[in-house]
Amino acid sequence: MTSPFTFWDARTAEEAAALLSKKGAMALGGGVDLLGEMKEGIRAPEHIVNLRSIPGLDKIQKTDRGWRVGATALLTDIADHADLRKDLPGFAESAEAVATPQIRNQGTIGGNLAQRPRCWYYRAAEFACVKKGGKGCPAEKGENRYLAIFGDGPCHIVHPSDCAPMLVALDARLFLRGPDGARDLPIADFYELPSKNALCEFTLKPGEFIEAVEIPTALPRSTYVKIREKDSFDFAIAACAIAGKIDGDHFTDARVVLGGVAPVPWRSVTAEANLRKNTIADAVEPASNSATDGARPMSQNAWKIPMTKAAVARAIRSFLPR
Ligand SMILES: Cc1cc2nc3c(=O)[nH]c(=O)nc-3n(C[C@H](O)[C@H](O)[C@H](O)COP(=O)(O)OP(=O)(O)OC[C@H]3O[C@@H](n4cnc5c(N)ncnc54)[C@H](O)[C@@H]3O)c2cc1C
Repeated sequence: MTSPFTFWDARTAEEAAALLSKKGAMALGGGVDLLGEMKEGIRAPEHIVNLRSIPGLDKIQKTDRGWRVGATALLTDIADHADLRKDLPGFAESAEAVATPQIRNQGTIGGNLAQRPRCWYYRAAEFACVKKGGKGCPAEKGENRYLAIFGDGPCHIVHPSDCAPMLVALDARLFLRGPDGARDLPIADFYELPSKNALCEFTLKPGEFIEAVEIPTALPRSTYVKIREKDSFDFAIAACAIAGKIDGDHFTDARVVLGGVAPVPWRSVTAEANLRKNTIADAVEPASNSATDGARPMSQNAWKIPMTKAAVARAIRSFLPR
């Protein structure tokens, strides 16, 4: 059973920031994740602040800096936006890779980027793990087959979002709104490893929320490849986002960011270097093999290493002429 809460329809971003500054307040996008957490008994907000009632916060528009996507834009609308897909194919693919059509029709980009992890110890109220302010990680001696191969603890969740690794690869910036005004930062800096903050995967100041994401179009070639256990819908076992520039048969600039294998979107600079210094065809092997350099699998998840290499290899091959 959920605890009682007050529900607020915010009318402006400023009003949302003021409401979110109340003790125990949480932002609501589509509610796909938040309601699950409330029903699971791991979250009991005193105030829920609906952001979808803010007019225009769902806009997807081209600007002189690239694309600006408002926080309440639906994943479906991102996946289906023909002009955005032309400029940022990988971003559209990552939105399309999320869950099911029903969830994409309800889920927002803000909620996707701020969703909480799916580790079953975190999701089960009876485990007081380090992510919930308790001690230690039960997965270290327990079930860890789907958990992180990078990141080194003390919590071993994998970041669940499909859009986050792609937006890191595309050098996107997040625009945050809070009671003290607006600020923006590279999306890569939004996410934090558990060694810095085990309680949450990202930092928002009190009252702050994601207002928009801006994505430059400077890296025109991009793709998102996701490997999952169940193809109809599932979170990533391993995923690879690549964004870059191609001249002839090679990448002149490239970002390789892994999903589903670390507590944050995981950039592989060794894979990027291998991608840049070879032709695309010759890069498949060295770049995919080096993508898991430094991985430290847990007792049950070494199988994710070949899965990760396969995701990277598939992503690179998608740029080969057909
Ligand atoms: C069965 C199932 C399968 C799923 N599969 C996938 C998948 O394959 N890939 C994937 O990426 N995700 C998946 N999800 C996770 C997620 O629910 C969706 O990705 C969705 O985008 C969440 O969006 P929402 O707007 O409903 O978020 P909400 O539930 O409204 O919010 C999620 C969290 O973000 C916070 N929040 C919401 N908006 C903002 C904002 N603007 N600023 C700051 N914080 C905010 C909320 O307080 C909450 O803590 C799945 C979920 C389910 C239930």
